[in-house]
Amino acid sequence: YLLSSLLYPLRNTILYHHALRSAMQDPLTGVNNRAAFESTLQREIDLARRHITPLAVLMADIDHFKQINDEYGHLYGDCVLREVANRIQRCVRRTDIVFRYGGEEFAIVLSNTSPEGAHLTAERIRFAVAKAGQFKKEGEPQTAVTVSLGGSSLREQDTPETLFKRADQALYQAKNGGRNCVCFESP
Ligand code: GH3
Ligand code: MG
Ligand code: MG
Repeated sequence: YLLSSLLYPLRNTILYHHALRSAMQDPLTGVNNRAAFESTLQREIDLARRHITPLAVLMADIDHFKQINDEYGHLYGDCVLREVANRIQRCVRRTDIVFRYGGEEFAIVLSNTSPEGAHLTAERIRFAVAKAGQFKKEGEPQTAVTVSLGGSSLREQDTPETLFKRADQALYQAKNGGRNCVCFESP
């Protein structure tokens, strides 16, 4: 009797945690989703201020992704999204957090990371995606997949919105700079 009276609440707790987790996860790529980004960024800003540590945000956007979909199909596009998410995840530390922000856009929150460190990480991601291999499709020539990245670092007056906005503006500059490149906000 004691066991069964414990079992149900335990089972409910597990179900509850599963539900919480999937509410924060992107089903296609397995990284965190947009809803998770909004709450995490505020928390990371609070932590950075409390511990007086730097904090950086990167935005990554796949170049000409519409063309990849059009040329090879949506399912192949989905594979590319998964592979890009994997490569990003492999380029960052365990304390960094990766999000699928939108369709083919990823946000990365780099805790305790200087602007220089964030810039290096962005270059590492750019290179890991652009390097040949793994984006092959049966019977097709190899697809070239590249990403552009923008980055920003936490300032004293920042809110999550202003910090994100500067990373997004830097991404826009990277796109204008010819794509497959990194642009970090000027201090
Ligand atoms: P740019 O280099 O300027 O970023 O060009 P782009 O083509 O990557 O950008 P655009 O915003 O024009 O196109 C984004 C495309 O991403 C269009 C949309 O169909 C595709 N997309 C969004 N979500 C998904 C998804 O979950 N799966 C697939 N296969 N495609 C998606
Ligand atoms: Mg985009
Ligand atoms: Mg794009």
